[in-house]
Amino acid sequence: MVKEGHEVGIHGWIHELNSELGLADERDLMKRSFDTLAKTTGKPPVGMRTPSWDFSQHTLTLVRELGLLYDSSLMADDEPYELLEDGEPTGVVELPVEWIKDDAPYMNMVRHGAIRPHTPPSGVLSIFKSEFDMRAAGTWDESAQTETTTICAYCGVGCNLTLHVQANDIVKVTSPHDNPVTHGNLCIKGRFGFQHVQNRE
Ligand code: SF4
Repeated sequence: MVKEGHEVGIHGWIHELNSELGLADERDLMKRSFDTLAKTTGKPPVGMRTPSWDFSQHTLTLVRELGLLYDSSLMADDEPYELLEDGEPTGVVELPVEWIKDDAPYMNMVRHGAIRPHTPPSGVLSIFKSEFDMRAAGTWDESAQTETTTICAYCGVGCNLTLHVQANDIVKVTSPHDNPVTHGNLCIKGRFGFQHVQNRE
């Protein structure tokens, strides 16, 4: 992976929960991960995503101690932003996480519960690629899209949906920003469930 130019970032030592650790233990585990990756890959890591996106009151201190350039564990914005400490800029960039960019909700399997993957891997891949592929092919045309308002039927919350339709296919699902329930946010089933409706495979 490193030879192909990929960056390898820190993701904890034993998938620890940082917020349950004291500073010394969090530092010890983060340092073990940092040192091991530096030795294995031949260069020190420059960023991290905390295990379970769990960012403790000490994590930023440790990020700065290790000289990391970025973290990717927080959700304060859709776009990258700079982390502040006591109101002062730190120079550390936050690359925010978001469940809709994560494959875990589709692939999770809880051994002692009822959660099982409900979408084939090819379907999950298409979720992340479909709009990108249309844009890359030059076929994404918002002027040719119509919008239909409806209600999500996947659960009892009943979120308002706006279906964006192009050439008889639903190509995107959003929710109005001024909707008092969703405030423009939908869960993954609501946002991407349309791909089950029109799956032709
Ligand atoms: S978008 Fe999600 S939370 Fe809203 S009704 Fe559909 S499944 Fe329920």
